[in-house]
Amino acid sequence: MNAFFPLRNGQLHVESVPLSDIAAHFGTPCYIYSRAALEDALAQFQKELAGVDSLVCYALKANSNLAVLNVFARHGAGFDIVSSGELKRALAAGADPKKIVFSGVGKTAAEMAFALSTGILCFNVESAPELERLNGVAAGLDKKAPISLRVNPNVDAKTHPYISTGLKENKFGVAYEDALSIYQHAARLPNLEIIGIDCHIGSQLLDPAPFAEALDKLLQLIDQLTSNGISLHHIDLGGGLGIRYKDEAAPSVKSYLQPLLKKLTGRGLKILLEPGRRLVGNAGVLLTRVEYLKPGAVKNFAVVDAAMNDLARPALYDAWHDIVPVMPRNSKACQWDIVGPICESGDFLGHHRSLAIATGDLLAIMSAGAYGMAMSSNYNTRPRAAEVMVDGSHSHLVRRRETVEELYALESLLP
Ligand SMILES: *Cc1c(COP(=O)(O)O)cnc(C)c1O
Repeated sequence: MNAFFPLRNGQLHVESVPLSDIAAHFGTPCYIYSRAALEDALAQFQKELAGVDSLVCYALKANSNLAVLNVFARHGAGFDIVSSGELKRALAAGADPKKIVFSGVGKTAAEMAFALSTGILCFNVESAPELERLNGVAAGLDKKAPISLRVNPNVDAKTHPYISTGLKENKFGVAYEDALSIYQHAARLPNLEIIGIDCHIGSQLLDPAPFAEALDKLLQLIDQLTSNGISLHHIDLGGGLGIRYKDEAAPSVKSYLQPLLKKLTGRGLKILLEPGRRLVGNAGVLLTRVEYLKPGAVKNFAVVDAAMNDLARPALYDAWHDIVPVMPRNSKACQWDIVGPICESGDFLGHHRSLAIATGDLLAIMSAGAYGMAMSSNYNTRPRAAEVMVDGSHSHLVRRRETVEELYALESLLP
């Protein structure tokens, strides 16, 4: 709970809207985002970057709902995309292609051609063969592709191994030791234009030190490039800044950025950032209803109508999300495992939660704005949840709930 999710008159709200109203109008399970929280998260970056030649490129894989993207686009944000699907989404939400960077290890020739035709800011190239392919695609279109090399600085982000990306053993980017020669090769390819360098060392980082470590390594490389006649326009430091889910001391945007900005002063480089989770994670909740209580000898289960297909993070990373009753009761709390209806023991949203709850109660799964809906699936033929954005005292349905018929509409029977 925070300023955007206040407890008022004994009821949890999103901005000025009681969550029970949203359940009544749109049903459960339902993702709810606070527009003000999204804007506040972006403003924290933009405030620290005021007066600095810079661009915040929201990594839209964290939450790619068009309404979310549109809020950020209206405030001048750019976008970090990883597929032509995300590029189409960003454009449909009003993004300026000149503010879009394209990351990802597996860009197809068709994706490259589409991105070139829209005039994106930069391709964040992740391998030497990708350079060759991009050069060929650009030649076929008689264009020059603007590129940056994603360099793997080999720093330990000290986060969950599944979301650590800047170590030698990760699949991302080119090895630090190879970067100079790959840049030199890129400089000889006629349909590429070298404009930048980028890195992204991992996700949910709670210590700003690895970011500074990565930047130091990139700056050393930039000096080598300069003495080899290769000059860059921008440096892209990726995303990865963590948020508070439980009691983590997530660094402020200021304490994250100030050491980096200090190292970059006088360099004449435009600064790009690719935050994902930090812009959306704490701006969203997943609203669910208790269907059954199953007290037992060993464990008490509360079966709710949201599941691992709606929010995969607990099952996938053993992630912890706060679970809050929408209308807290005064009765005695007991320990509950909050589980979904899916036929997997890994289908849980929280273990050992001390809650006073009854069948039919609404629960809010907090900090669900990032990698929530974006990673949802239709496992067990469960229609994906509705998404609602609250703006002050108004709530807007920004994605309606799927119907079951839609889930098999693309399938057919044998003749
Ligand atoms: C996932 C990703 C991001 C965003 O990461 P967060 O941890 O959500 O900030 C940024 N850049 C790249 C290249 C990514 O793959």
